[in-house]
Amino acid sequence: MVKPLIIRGGRVIDPHNRVNGPRDVVFKDGRVAEVSEKAPAIEGAAIVDARGCWVLPGLIDLHVHLREPGDEGKETILTGCRAAVAGGFTAVVAMPNTRPINDSPLVTRYVQGRAREAGLCDVFVAGAISKGLKGEEMAEIGELASAGCKCITDDGFPVMNAGLLRRAFLYARAFSLPVMLHEEDLTLSARGVMTEGHRATRLGLMPIPRSAEVSMVARDLAIAEETGARVHFAHLSCEGSVRLVREAKRRGVNATAEATPHHFTLTDAAVEGYDTNAKMNPPLRQMEDVKAIREALADGTIDAIATDHAPHGPLDKEVEFDKAANGVIGLETALPLALELVQQGVLSKERAVELLTIGPARAFGLPGGHLGAGAPANVTVVDPDAKWIIDPMAFFSKSRNTPFHGRSVIGKVSHTIVGGRVVFEGGQIVENG
Ligand SMILES: [Zn+2]
Repeated sequence: MVKPLIIRGGRVIDPHNRVNGPRDVVFKDGRVAEVSEKAPAIEGAAIVDARGCWVLPGLIDLHVHLREPGDEGKETILTGCRAAVAGGFTAVVAMPNTRPINDSPLVTRYVQGRAREAGLCDVFVAGAISKGLKGEEMAEIGELASAGCKCITDDGFPVMNAGLLRRAFLYARAFSLPVMLHEEDLTLSARGVMTEGHRATRLGLMPIPRSAEVSMVARDLAIAEETGARVHFAHLSCEGSVRLVREAKRRGVNATAEATPHHFTLTDAAVEGYDTNAKMNPPLRQMEDVKAIREALADGTIDAIATDHAPHGPLDKEVEFDKAANGVIGLETALPLALELVQQGVLSKERAVELLTIGPARAFGLPGGHLGAGAPANVTVVDPDAKWIIDPMAFFSKSRNTPFHGRSVIGKVSHTIVGGRVVFEGGQIVENG
């Protein structure tokens, strides 16, 4: 049994419950018991001093690659969970592109079991849409749902076969599962490695046109609208995509979307010098796209900030740009990059918190995302004034592939609390004793 815990003297920002002010938070039995201006002392309770800090509902990341089973050299469920709580995340959704692929309840249960052993944060599991992520045959969606999968996705791969996707939408709707989509028409992206534009031409790299993403968003909104399924667009990167999603949501289509910190922070300028840490899929776009993503984060078109945490080692990244693996890690840098948007006046504090908490919770129907009585005792305490420099060597993740090395940022996680237990404090992981 976890003993009661009181977080004293911080500023609670809980957009879902419209709280933004000095409050104490009391946890009992792994749940929120009370949020009040001055909580009475409780015999035997642990105290977290949050003076000068923001006290947020635990952050939720809808999109991480934990690499276990199969690629434990890049990350394990344990090291991924360490990186998550160090970055302030109390819950993550693990993508199915492991080895073996999570297209069966056996793999789902394996990941759930390893996450319980790690005992650091909640790990929700995403199952595959198609067997082996091959896009040919549907996975056992009903079995994945009963094993506890919170969404289905072939993430990393688009579902090129629209007929298969339509059937998957119908199944997913029957099990109330969101369908998360990596949108890329492979006949348009072809062998492209960076966004189409003057830089791709100058650097002599094969381009990926925006239409590879935008056309698939259009197709899948049409199928979602017709079937009434819940569609979730992963890592949107283009102005055209957010325009379509905005219009569809206005008409009541059951769509949600996420954007990654790298897509709302960087342009393809980061590819200069052939930096493979700037290679990802979808690729970094240009300023007009970055602006559009930021607007969509502000106006509610995009529901969640998600990292697409994608660990890779030197064997995959210290090679020619054309041959390098796609992806960057993000769990330990997402929060300060989201706070940059607050510092720049793009987002209000409340909106930034929403995009990291209740927004993702709602998109996938996950518990938490707010601090109402009875909610899970998951909290992220942030020092909003702490200045620091991103140093991948200090990461808890097993991998180092970040394009943000050396960047000065403001805002640092001081405590992460999961299930009423402090799991990260003073820059250290507090392992499950
Ligand atoms: Zn991904």
